[in-house]
Amino acid sequence: MPVTWYTAPITRIEEATPRVRRMWLTLPDESPAFDFQAGQFLTMDLPIGEKRLQRWRSYSIASAPTGGREIELCIVKMAGGLATEYLFEKVEIGTEIKFKGPDGSFVLPEVIDQDLIMVCTGTGVAPFRSMLLYLDNNGWTNHNIHLIFGSRTREDLLYADEFLALANRRPNFRFTATLSRITDDPTESWIKKGYVHCGYEEDYSTVVKDRKFLLCGWTNMIDTAVEKLIIEMGYGRDQVGYELYG
Ligand SMILES: Cc1cc2nc3c(=O)[nH]c(=O)nc-3n(C[C@H](O)[C@H](O)[C@H](O)COP(=O)(O)OP(=O)(O)OC[C@H]3O[C@@H](n4cnc5c(N)ncnc54)[C@H](O)[C@@H]3O)c2cc1C
Repeated sequence: MPVTWYTAPITRIEEATPRVRRMWLTLPDESPAFDFQAGQFLTMDLPIGEKRLQRWRSYSIASAPTGGREIELCIVKMAGGLATEYLFEKVEIGTEIKFKGPDGSFVLPEVIDQDLIMVCTGTGVAPFRSMLLYLDNNGWTNHNIHLIFGSRTREDLLYADEFLALANRRPNFRFTATLSRITDDPTESWIKKGYVHCGYEEDYSTVVKDRKFLLCGWTNMIDTAVEKLIIEMGYGRDQVGYELYG
């Protein structure tokens, strides 16, 4: 299948935290539609290198598939990172971004027949935000969904207000934030002090078949979580799926 490349201007930028920005691309009316499933990503071709593999970077889509022309991304600045230096220092409203996609199989099951435990750190929350918005808009599930989001501090939590509101509205949705660099003992019932793994280790120490873990983030977190869940806790390989950012 020939690859379709899209070009869309940046139409909005919001600094979500000192290191993370939300960025919206809006496809022009004459552009083909960009139909994606919640959880998928797009790949940008950025003017940051000669060879295409030097220029390509993937970003999960943080917005829900609605058939609309706006796509939201959520990007963390990496020290010394070529693409993120470009996306934080060189772009402005109106800068055109070339991208292809959607790609990826990190999506919701067609029929949700297990409880879903979503585990992420930082901008790894993006595909889960898309999935949760999608479910909220298109028919929620009877199964439990638990989002466990690891950050350093309260200020680093992305979309927390949305997730708390969703937890109020959907009784079988639970939101836990784990904060690794706070010095106080949190009084909020939804915050735990520690790394993201403390968000699932105790609660799900008893293995049951109708539970699936979805993980999203960088190598260290994913490697540790896969080892804990499968080797230490005894979950089946088919009960753990992940999207690796790098
Ligand atoms: C499927 C997928 C989805 C993704 N979704 C998202 C998302 O939604 N949000 C998001 O923020 N990221 C996401 N990523 C990660 C993203 O694609 C980029 O990898 C990330 O933005 C870093 O790119 P960069 O060019 O800035 O860093 P790079 O230039 O690729 O460098 C990465 C790191 O390596 C270090 N480094 C680079 N060169 C050297 C060197 N010569 N020596 C030593 N260290 C070096 C840099 O300091 C930096 O910390 C996703 C990745 C994948 C695969």
